[in-house]
Amino acid sequence: MLVKDNLNVLNQKIEKACLKSGRATEDVSIIGVTKYVSIQRAKEAIDAGVQHLGENRDEGFLAKFEEIGSNATWHYIGNLQTRKVKSVINKVDYLHSLDRLSLAKEIDKRANAPVLCFVQVNVSGEESKQGIAPEHIIEFIKELAHFPNIKVVGLMTMAPYSSDEVLLRTIFRKLRVLRDEIKNLNLDYAPCQELSMGMSNDFELAIEEGATYIRIGTSLVGNKEEE
Ligand SMILES: *Cc1c(COP(=O)(O)O)cnc(C)c1O
Repeated sequence: MLVKDNLNVLNQKIEKACLKSGRATEDVSIIGVTKYVSIQRAKEAIDAGVQHLGENRDEGFLAKFEEIGSNATWHYIGNLQTRKVKSVINKVDYLHSLDRLSLAKEIDKRANAPVLCFVQVNVSGEESKQGIAPEHIIEFIKELAHFPNIKVVGLMTMAPYSSDEVLLRTIFRKLRVLRDEIKNLNLDYAPCQELSMGMSNDFELAIEEGATYIRIGTSLVGNKEEE
């Protein structure tokens, strides 16, 4: 399938979810997750009009960044090892996986300018998931005041792979409530207006619950090289 055709279908579904929940489509941005696919396929996404690209590994990100550079807005969506910070942090536009103070400290040290970060929250409590536990999030945000190169633009979560709508909505809603709580603290370094949530299998629910960035791989660019 052409990315262009997938994008049309995706945009129609986004529009429907926005209409259903009284939201404006401009308030929802698509991040095309290209981690499974080639540089060529990522370029096809850019040509189709996808502005934001997401990668979750340093090698994959750097390879694509080298070819595509500032033609995309770059989102680093995967777990970032502290020792990898140096090689990527001044190239990404957004980091979606800030989940520990040691990482904040290293970013603060290596970044040439404030980095726009989403704090990753483990709302579902699954052991396999990265992220700060919801009950520790306020405390974590307050600690970030010590790092002038960290700017918290929002919260990010990954929901479990599930078709249970009630469960998914509950998770997305919890992230929104936490986002509002942090936003209402009115911290200069944590405007926290954005919600990064929703993937190929659950983005419609995420939009209905307030997502401002959805991260779409499989249903936009596919999940294997040959697609
Ligand atoms: C891979 C990935 C996605 C995209 O997943 P799809 O189900 O292929 O849309 C979104 N977010 C994160 C953090 C990912 O690692």
